[in-house]
Amino acid sequence: MEKNSAFQNALDQLVSVKEQAGLEDDIYEQLKKPKRFMEVSIPVRMDDGRMKVFTGYRSQFNDARGPYKGGIRFHERVSEDEVKALSMWMTWKTAVIDIPLGGGKGGVIVNPKELSAGELERLSRGYIRAIAPFIGERVDIPAPDVYTDPRIMAWMLDEYEQIVGHKAPGVITGKPLSIGGSKARGYSTAQGGFYVLEELLNKIGLGKEARISIQGFGNAGANMAEIMAKNGYKITAASDTKGGVSDPGGLDIKKLEEHKKATGSVIGFAGGENLKGDILEAETDILILAALENAITKENAENVKAKVILELANGPVSPEADEILNEKGTVIVPDILANAGGVGVSYLEQVQNAYMYYWSEVEVLAKLKEMMIKGFNDVWNAKEANKTSMRNGAYILAVTRVAQAMRDRS
Ligand code: NAD
Repeated sequence: MEKNSAFQNALDQLVSVKEQAGLEDDIYEQLKKPKRFMEVSIPVRMDDGRMKVFTGYRSQFNDARGPYKGGIRFHERVSEDEVKALSMWMTWKTAVIDIPLGGGKGGVIVNPKELSAGELERLSRGYIRAIAPFIGERVDIPAPDVYTDPRIMAWMLDEYEQIVGHKAPGVITGKPLSIGGSKARGYSTAQGGFYVLEELLNKIGLGKEARISIQGFGNAGANMAEIMAKNGYKITAASDTKGGVSDPGGLDIKKLEEHKKATGSVIGFAGGENLKGDILEAETDILILAALENAITKENAENVKAKVILELANGPVSPEADEILNEKGTVIVPDILANAGGVGVSYLEQVQNAYMYYWSEVEVLAKLKEMMIKGFNDVWNAKEANKTSMRNGAYILAVTRVAQAMRDRS
């Protein structure tokens, strides 16, 4: 196992709820490994005529509740370990919001910023050719993740349909609207996180006066900032890889987005001041984590001042940091609930594809809201019943649901 292994973190989380979820040893043993794990090699003709071979993975973790479901990540740091962890988390995520899907994940080791558009297209098509025999609308349904987007999903769908010889829009989600994508999919992760956060704030009595900091002003983070600002909340700080900016009176998010687009970063924004310290340690009431894994570890957990943390990113708080924050009384909305809005709308996209009938944005959002609020209440009730954290409550709930489906099949 790698050092700082994400999969080890995922396994530790599983064992920590083994008893409360009532897991028999045989079910627990099955849940420790993906049902199928694939490593594929993808030869790609580069623009200069050379052939370069990329490595890709697909982990099909569990399909007891329905077809495997999970995104494809294009990143230099993709590894077997990371893909396995993300596929296990997807299994819990689909179970937490109770949609009839299992969990999977894929990735390719590549820095997509170094590829031309043509090279990226050939890599995307090559990856799907490699895994095509093992995916399908009722088998395994990929989607976008870090550094993959609707354009890449379109190439992948097109390649898949050429292989099988018929239209199959439901085999991949996060597609452009023109070929079967869903309204609201582009900002669904943030929107789902917003519905959950509002429910929590109502429960704990924190209102619109709360100071909100966002680590990671990318797709999920910037959409979240926009939705919160539109609903009357104040974003007092935001950051990206280059640094952060703050304004105690609330940042103008639209202008900040324009600034980021023009300069590539939030720093130097005229409507705020550059942050001196780390955004994770800033004076704030709510901290939204929307960057990458292991942002808060045992090294910095003591210095986190937020009362509430929303994990829009996957695995941003390490298990040791989680313990420290729980001791301090920080309320953490765990990733498997907080960012499940993305897969929630992916599921709605599949349903629309299957019916060949498409909903308006208002209809999609109403369905997402219902799904997320029910997920929140189920997690809250599991937390109360087990006198534990929201994270443990979410795990107990998800693992119990997956295990029940496995038992019912055996
Ligand atoms: P993205 O690449 O659009 O955004 C990530 C942002 O984080 C970038 O602005 C980057 O500059 C910033 N960042 C990276 N490291 C940082 C650091 N150390 N400090 C501050 N900022 C940093 O990616 P995204 O799609 O927004 O995904 C972010 C996270 O949310 C990932 O963990 C992803 O798995 C998760 N997520 C995204 C979706 C989705 O639909 N986009 C769905 C579920 C989960």
